[in-house]
Amino acid sequence: MSPQGTTQMTRRGFLEATAVGGAVAAAGGEAPAPAQASAASTLAPPDDGKLRIVVFGAHPDDAEIRAGGIGALWAGLGHHVQLVSVTNGDIGHFAMAGGALAQRRTAEVAAASKVMGTHSLVLDIHDGELEPTLANRRLLTRVIRQWGADIVIGHRPNDYHPDHRYVGVLMQDSAYMVGVPFFCPDAPPLKRNPLFLYSHDYFQRPNPFRADIVVAIDPVIDKKVEALVLMESQFVEGGAMGKPNPALDDPAGRDKKRQGVREAFRRRFASVADQNREKLIETYGPAGKDVKYAEAFEICEYGARPNARELRRLFPFLPAKA
Ligand SMILES: [Zn+2]
Repeated sequence: MSPQGTTQMTRRGFLEATAVGGAVAAAGGEAPAPAQASAASTLAPPDDGKLRIVVFGAHPDDAEIRAGGIGALWAGLGHHVQLVSVTNGDIGHFAMAGGALAQRRTAEVAAASKVMGTHSLVLDIHDGELEPTLANRRLLTRVIRQWGADIVIGHRPNDYHPDHRYVGVLMQDSAYMVGVPFFCPDAPPLKRNPLFLYSHDYFQRPNPFRADIVVAIDPVIDKKVEALVLMESQFVEGGAMGKPNPALDDPAGRDKKRQGVREAFRRRFASVADQNREKLIETYGPAGKDVKYAEAFEICEYGARPNARELRRLFPFLPAKA
């Protein structure tokens, strides 16, 4: 879509534009949802007083990996969580690419969201080609406004993958601007700057990730792992850097691989808990010692800076401070 076309888009126009080419789809946690029909409901959750959360990942799997657990916790309490892939993932496989792969991965994240109770949205930008442009700043601003977000989560701008980095930049660029009325005046501005959070990573330069909020995901770990294993193009077949594996042609071999994927993800989220044990004990008291699986987030200083009471409202599954 052209930047000029974008600026003049109405809400309806935005929905149509993001659905261009059929490689973009949104799906609801509950409703069985053909792409276009669900887009409208997904982009405007009901005004029911529940929290609204937008999680940006660069590719169809990033938001699910980094925030699928906290997303399922919010969703379990009736809050509205949209997991957004900013690119369509169309080069994320060693043996297939293009529209067919984008559609396959769009279906994978939709199926994953169904398990976690979240919603999924895949934007129509080529994988590996995301740029921090004004048009994309407008696009992310519109997604955040359409959802009416209280909380926005995305990558840090320090990351090995250029698409991840630019999601971080674009998220930062949208912070504050989401409330400025004459930026993208076609989409109603938010009345409050949301809380912006960075999702967890291990990169060290120029500065390492700082775990400000660590959430136990034990109650939803089974859901999260079952959702992730549905992304077979990535975790069973190996994604962009995979190799042909004849063992996967055999149903038993594929099942064995799936089991290995489940176990690897459990180890990964267990190690987030172990690395943040002190923070877990600070948050959960002595029960923090027994937390097995966690997700961690860093507060971005460009968004809202909530006090303890507001944090409690935004993260209702965390225990009240003694
Ligand atoms: Zn990615």
